[in-house]
Amino acid sequence: AHDVTDTRRSQEILVNALRRERQVVARLRELDHAKDDFVSTVSHELRTPMSSIIGSAEMLLDGLVGDLDPAQQQLVEVVERNGARLLSLADDLLLLATSDAGGRTEQTQDLDLRDVVRESIASVDSALAGRRLETCWDLPDQPVPVSGEPSHLERAFTNLLTNAVKFTPDGGQVALRLRQAPEHRTALVEVTDTGLGIDAAELDQVFDRFYRSATVQEQAIQGTGLGLAIVRTIVEAHDGRIDVASTPGQGSTFGVTLPLRRTPSVRPG
Ligand code: ADP
Repeated sequence: AHDVTDTRRSQEILVNALRRERQVVARLRELDHAKDDFVSTVSHELRTPMSSIIGSAEMLLDGLVGDLDPAQQQLVEVVERNGARLLSLADDLLLLATSDAGGRTEQTQDLDLRDVVRESIASVDSALAGRRLETCWDLPDQPVPVSGEPSHLERAFTNLLTNAVKFTPDGGQVALRLRQAPEHRTALVEVTDTGLGIDAAELDQVFDRFYRSATVQEQAIQGTGLGLAIVRTIVEAHDGRIDVASTPGQGSTFGVTLPLRRTPSVRPG
């Protein structure tokens, strides 16, 4: 009789523990949702005033309200540059919060990946200006059909290129290569630089939110540590994969693999 009571008692304890655990999980989910909502509302609310600060600074720089003396010009440039940094931080947080919440902001389209990559290359022009870096862009002659959200994919490649430029000292090289691997039904984009490189121990962490290597912080190279977290989020949302290989002091290669879109086969005749 003793045994039966004991068994019943342990069953009760177990059932209660499971029930409590389920309640805790539900509560954590709720809090996680609240966090996503909060981050996305705040980022969204920051965008409007930031845009108007940047717009006003641009009007001043364009001389729309008269000429600025060099000191004024310099100060307004500081306002504009830092405004742009804040805006892009708000955009980054918004994108991550939206993706955490499982949301999609845009429609998926049929794309030629070459077009997306060309846009990214064009958008690092300003980062390359004034730098002494050799660049090499290698795109195939044939279209590379994928499906995806063009602005997000462009953002991913732009982030990789911006990093390559940022972490490579003058005299170095930055390259991008796009290839199709039809046998694997994938497209591969590789961004290679001859820059600082990443320690083996840090390779796993570079995709974490807000992670910045010690070297980068010591050298006071600007950044938020969100760039690669965003690249990974975007690539994974496209059923792709991102890899990195690096040798400290010699350079890094980031490779993005995306599934090719199945194109209807053309029948002869
Ligand atoms: P951020 O560039 O804003 O610091 P990222 O998320 O883009 O943030 O990168 C995280 C960290 O990974 C960087 O701070 C740097 O330490 C390392 N890293 C990223 N790309 C490169 C690269 N091309 N070469 C060397 N280190 C890199």
